[in-house]
Amino acid sequence: MKSICVFLGSSAGTDPAHMEAAAALGRELAERGMICVYGGSRTGLMNRLAECALAAGGEVVGVTVQVLKDKEEFHRGLTRLHVVPTMHQRKTMMIDLADGFVALPGGIGTWDEFFEVITLRQLGFHAKPCGLLDVNGFYQPLLQMLDKAEKEGLMKRSARKAIVVSSDPAEMLDLLIAAEKRAP
Ligand code: AMP
Repeated sequence: MKSICVFLGSSAGTDPAHMEAAAALGRELAERGMICVYGGSRTGLMNRLAECALAAGGEVVGVTVQVLKDKEEFHRGLTRLHVVPTMHQRKTMMIDLADGFVALPGGIGTWDEFFEVITLRQLGFHAKPCGLLDVNGFYQPLLQMLDKAEKEGLMKRSARKAIVVSSDPAEMLDLLIAAEKRAP
């Protein structure tokens, strides 16, 4: 597994544990020589991830859209910044560039991206591992919802089981690597 795409808040949020998890994941990716792909922003948890990965000597690839670049909402120190015309192309490129995906705490942008990758996986468009980093129980309500959907026959058991969950960034990467090895 050479690259991981990280979805996470463009805001910092109020729980310092979220900032710390973004920092720890950035450092962990860099230490393992894994490329960090993300949305290219210079704000919030996204910025913390990029800063910490870069500071630890890692490669960070941003994928943004022209509109956000025009508004200067991008990180100037990245290893590479791809700029595409639309949000759909942006998501497609992020998905193509990565061997696996992790969502950290975030809002609707983060969830949209995570749900797209698990939906594409369930339909067989890719077989890359997808994980939720459940920092300080942030994703417990969502995990309960997913369990309810599975219990009530609205989500396949295989799709539910495919979502890797951990509260620890290093363990998350270990689990994604193990899941990639098991993939068909
Ligand atoms: P949110 O969780 O709503 O803050 O949205 C964060 C997600 O949406 C990130 O994973 C990004 O890919 C994308 N996103 C939101 N804001 C920006 C931004 N200013 N620049 C690039 N991507 C962004």
